[in-house]
Amino acid sequence: MTSESRGEIVVVGGGVVGLTTALILAERGASVRVWTRDAVEATTSAVAGALWWPYRIEPVAAARAWALRSLEVYEDLVARAAPAGVRMVEGVLGETGLDEADGWLAGRVPGLRASTTDEYAGTGVRARLPLIDMPAHLPWLRERFVAAGGVIETRTVSSFAEVDAPVVVNCAGLAARGLVPDPSVRPVRGQLVVVENPGIDTWLVTTDAAGEHAYLFPQPGGLVLGGTSEEDAWSLEPDPATAEAIIRRCAALRPEIAGARVLEHRVGLRPTRPSVRLERDALPDGRLLVHNYGHGGAGVTVAWGCAEEAARLVSG
Ligand SMILES: Cc1cc2nc3c(=O)[nH]c(=O)nc-3n(C[C@H](O)[C@H](O)[C@H](O)COP(=O)(O)OP(=O)(O)OC[C@H]3O[C@@H](n4cnc5c(N)ncnc54)[C@H](O)[C@@H]3O)c2cc1C
Repeated sequence: MTSESRGEIVVVGGGVVGLTTALILAERGASVRVWTRDAVEATTSAVAGALWWPYRIEPVAAARAWALRSLEVYEDLVARAAPAGVRMVEGVLGETGLDEADGWLAGRVPGLRASTTDEYAGTGVRARLPLIDMPAHLPWLRERFVAAGGVIETRTVSSFAEVDAPVVVNCAGLAARGLVPDPSVRPVRGQLVVVENPGIDTWLVTTDAAGEHAYLFPQPGGLVLGGTSEEDAWSLEPDPATAEAIIRRCAALRPEIAGARVLEHRVGLRPTRPSVRLERDALPDGRLLVHNYGHGGAGVTVAWGCAEEAARLVSG
């Protein structure tokens, strides 16, 4: 590490992106504090489903590389039986051709094949991918960071200039819109319903002709049903009609879902940007500011690749 990164680093934001970035920096020997407005359980990251797949984020080639690096880390956590809330689970990605998936995954996902009509009526790809249980993963990240000497402080900044450290890393997600400021960061609202699992042990992601998504992820706390994508919608209140529609669309795929007991409603605002921002910048007084935000609907998928890149940018 350079002299710059041997000094203290403050990471603004303690969601999956901030915590992963902070722990990589701390495990490389830097002195790191995370400043977060919210407890990790109250972040967008805690809402995610979360399946490993780089859904529509730009730049495509870089996002795939960040996703593949994260895939390695998730596979390694599973191999080591780390209590990180990560499992490799089989499922079908609907409306996706094998050529499309195989082209960039190029042998990285063993057993990748076209789905059979028994598995899914439309065109789909069957794969074994990381499924991350965020209520377990986020506290695990936090504990690993603290074990590496990191410190988490509940603080809300109104400007990065307030931060008392020679290096600032911006992992504020949607809040980067006001803090940077960067009006190109916009919310894409997502609502989910968690139901008692009626015995489903594979995941399924589909898109209908109208572009509506229906997906189901079997997690330890229940079957997570999704989902919605509403651009520029800021409400964090679950909408009952939307919840009913989600259940109806998922029950059309797996009829046993229709009568399942509802356990929880979740809403989150995806921090969406035309392209992820991962680059060096400077505060008005010349201090280093590294940006790592704008991961839209794929922050969990690319977290480790982006965190390593951010750590490289801190080192110069
Ligand atoms: C319904 C839904 C489903 C999703 N499913 C998936 C999926 O299956 N797979 C996938 O990869 N991704 C998924 N995502 C996307 C994923 O959740 C996001 O990309 C990811 O959580 C972004 O992480 P983040 O750390 O950048 O942001 P956040 O989790 O929003 O964290 C931002 C942090 O910044 C802090 N902060 C904000 N303002 C300030 C301030 N002024 N001062 C100090 N701190 C501040 C917050 O407190 C928080 O700690 C989903 C999202 C939603 C909503």
